[in-house]
Amino acid sequence: MTEKERTLAIIKPDAVKRQLAGTILSRIERAGFRIIGLKLVRLSKERAENFYAVHRSKPFFASLTEFMSSGPIIVMALQGKRVIDDYRSFIGSTDPAQAGYGTIRRDYGTSIERNVVHGSDSPENGLREVRFFFEEHECLGDE
Ligand code: UDP
Ligand code: MG
Repeated sequence: MTEKERTLAIIKPDAVKRQLAGTILSRIERAGFRIIGLKLVRLSKERAENFYAVHRSKPFFASLTEFMSSGPIIVMALQGKRVIDDYRSFIGSTDPAQAGYGTIRRDYGTSIERNVVHGSDSPENGLREVRFFFEEHECLGDE
């Protein structure tokens, strides 16, 4: 288990509203990521502020948390060796205009804020962010 990481993947409100959830989910599966938990949720402004607490002092914090609580999101727990880096490469840089060709953010993102997906940035944050949304019994085991 030690080498297995977890990442929290989110399909953000812009993508759910634009009915891109199925397409993005399908691309995640086709890329070979293992989904061990999945649900649709709606964040309150307060819960979005809590999730992005590390960005509290940033100029984009108010707008980001308004956006993230503006509609339903799909949260997923992905598990695997090196899933943190692999998934971040798969989604691309924060700013869709800077993201590599063929990445999710490049293909569907419309601004640095509305960049359609989230991915955890370290193994520690991956575990913490998965726990933010999932009880252990809501996730698949190691079978
Ligand atoms: N964000 C923004 N403006 C910025 C930087 C980030 O609106 O200048 C938003 C964007 O939605 C991003 C989220 O805040 O995904 C979290 O920012 P972070 O720097 O952690 O980027 P990420 O890890 O999501 O690539
Ligand atoms: Mg981040």
